Amino acid sequence: MKLTIGHLYPDLLNLYGDVGNVQCLAKRLIWRGIGVEIRRFFAGDKIDFSVLDLAVLGGGSDREQGLCGRYLKKEREGFRDYVEDGGVLLAVCGGYQLLGAYYKTAKMTVEGLHILDIHTEWEPARLTGNILLKSPVSNSPVVGFENHGGRTCIGSYAPFGSVICGYGNEEGAGQEGVLYRNLIGTYLHGPLLPKNPEVCDFLLSRALERKYGTQIALNPLRDEAERQANRYMARRLLRV
Ligand code: GLN
Repeated sequence: MKLTIGHLYPDLLNLYGDVGNVQCLAKRLIWRGIGVEIRRFFAGDKIDFSVLDLAVLGGGSDREQGLCGRYLKKEREGFRDYVEDGGVLLAVCGGYQLLGAYYKTAKMTVEGLHILDIHTEWEPARLTGNILLKSPVSNSPVVGFENHGGRTCIGSYAPFGSVICGYGNEEGAGQEGVLYRNLIGTYLHGPLLPKNPEVCDFLLSRALERKYGTQIALNPLRDEAERQANRYMARRLLRV
């Protein structure tokens, strides 16, 4: 068994160590004796979605998002087909915003990929800090960090999680990110997956199932350090 992970635009979308998500996906496969190949697609490269089982699109500042928007225009169709076909995707912050119709700031509007019927509008007060979620893809609470000026309206899509503590898609909405087919879009910056191994294994399971046509049970790993860190953060944020 083997999975191919596509790291999309690591030269532009790489804020806060988003690359850790790619490393986590790869390591958790290797530790289980499953083969892995990482393909990096830099700005301007043609993305061959047909070879990918998993794709990761990281976060970026407004400037990098503007540049990315231009490159992604050429990839729109292939990207949309990949997602509709159940291709697994983790898109973080700036990458998450780019999946929608547009990302609008005071200075520019970046047209998105139109993969999801969502949109994002920027406001000067940034939504920053640690965040805690309850998500259907993880029994443990999902912990992370957010820092964004964009407010994302997800309409009737299912969120990645409900906000226990923090902001998420927009103040007061109580929802964070989006969950659609095998795609997770989220504001939780890197490295989200090392902090939340259950979320990582959810993505790996979906990719294995799509590729091999059957549910494949992942061997449990010794995640004691991760579980302790997760519990520590959850308690700290809930002040219990
Ligand atoms: N530029 C976007 C915003 O501020 C995304 C930032 C990010 O990826 N952290 O909303």
